[in-house]
Amino acid sequence: MAEHNFDVVILGGGSGGYAAALRSAQLGLSVALIERDKLGGTCLHRGCIPTKALLHSAEVADVTREAAAFGISATLNGVDMPAVNKYRDGIVDKLFKGLTGLVSSKAITVVAGEGKLVAPKTISVNGDNYTGKNIVLATGSFSRTLPGLEIGGRVITSEQALQLDFVPTSAIVLGGGVIGVEFASIWKSFGTDVTIIEGLPTLVPNEDASVSKALERAYRKRGINFKTGVRFSGVQQSATGVVVSLENGETFEAELLLVAVGRGPNATGFGYEENGIKMDRGYVLTNDRLETSLQGVYAAGDIVPGLQLAHRGFQQGIFIAEEIAGLKPVSIDENGIPKVTYSEPEIASVGLTEAKAAEKFGAENISSYEYNLGGNGKSQILGTAGFVKLIRQNNGPIVGIHMIGSRVGEQIGEAQLIVNWEAFPEDVASLVHAHPTQNEALGEAHLALAGKPLHAHA
Ligand SMILES: Cc1cc2nc3c(=O)[nH]c(=O)nc-3n(C[C@H](O)[C@H](O)[C@H](O)COP(=O)(O)OP(=O)(O)OC[C@H]3O[C@@H](n4cnc5c(N)ncnc54)[C@H](O)[C@@H]3O)c2cc1C
Repeated sequence: MAEHNFDVVILGGGSGGYAAALRSAQLGLSVALIERDKLGGTCLHRGCIPTKALLHSAEVADVTREAAAFGISATLNGVDMPAVNKYRDGIVDKLFKGLTGLVSSKAITVVAGEGKLVAPKTISVNGDNYTGKNIVLATGSFSRTLPGLEIGGRVITSEQALQLDFVPTSAIVLGGGVIGVEFASIWKSFGTDVTIIEGLPTLVPNEDASVSKALERAYRKRGINFKTGVRFSGVQQSATGVVVSLENGETFEAELLLVAVGRGPNATGFGYEENGIKMDRGYVLTNDRLETSLQGVYAAGDIVPGLQLAHRGFQQGIFIAEEIAGLKPVSIDENGIPKVTYSEPEIASVGLTEAKAAEKFGAENISSYEYNLGGNGKSQILGTAGFVKLIRQNNGPIVGIHMIGSRVGEQIGEAQLIVNWEAFPEDVASLVHAHPTQNEALGEAHLALAGKPLHAHA
């Protein structure tokens, strides 16, 4: 058994782990990065990137279908799924090559294999021990299912959904959160008859209530069926399809059932709890310095309770490296993390929803404003509906921005600066937004909330 010593030993080479490795190496620390599968993790291989590639193909299908509305003569002759997958895999492969090249160009020892914590500061891989002055746990998450709902055959998770080499004629999506609505959007654009089942009262229930309502409106218009506020009770599979039953007695039939009920932490079986790390329902608990209950053992990404997003993992990885190097980085404000749902239409939000802001500051101490994309030239050119909604503390800063409409995800950059820099609407109103862009809608909304609306009726 060989013994290896490093300043930092990282378990898991996904968004959280590889960001910690790159920043640690940049800061002159010696680093081992242990990965049992592929560097890049869920986001690059089974998450963010492949789904967004499919969503882009879906957009091309929609645009082709609607080409005549823009004066272009084109016919959608079909969706060649193997070719769509080839395009998607090409993007993933290119990014994967770039990432492996980047990591290997730094002083990072990449160790292939499954690691297990065998002592508070030691991870064993294939019989060798890697001891770190500091340890970073970043083992990610897996697709959860419901008790009694077995994955297999025609009952699939996002992993199998990404591997399909055909377009299903019909699909039921269990779960109206981000992953569920993104797949529903992709499949509908490809021609599938889709039904979403969501136990909570609305689709995208974590978003501002007005955004959920607007998404439901848009999905109704697109012909995406959904049932909300009713719980799943069981599924039966046959050679040709699935029959899903709900607690209210209703049944739905389709070719496939996609289970998209959230992701659970991949944090058991690797010696965490056994070595004294405090956990809660499978998640690794940390303080706001991302240190676990063991001194010098940190955790990043989806195993830490909170938003399961790649950019949160990146930032946590960077933070941990800087903390280890003694740079005393500013703690990450979870409320300031931007979220994008890349369906058609897209949803982008940062900060508090109106309900949360009212809870925090009192309903009488906040104001909100919704700027309709009907007044935004570029959105009209694209043919999209939607809005930008702002929530401010009265005589205070903007505390939440919520947007819905095609491509609004691209506007989240300015929105997150506004919320995280605690800008007042008056500050933003004096900044110039280029015309004609969808970005102008953000400017217009701030003009209106500052009391000087330009292209707004209210
Ligand atoms: C379908 C889908 C779409 C998504 N879309 C988006 C999106 O658009 N935007 C966004 O921000 N987020 C998105 N996410 C979420 C994003 O993928 C995760 O938040 C992110 O990957 C979490 O990073 P992580 O480092 O915590 O874990 P992961 O990326 O899961 O990486 C963990 C790594 O650890 C390795 N590992 C685990 N255990 C061990 C072990 N014992 N030894 C060695 N290696 C181990 C795994 O192989 C894996 O590579 C999506 C997720 C899914 C499933």
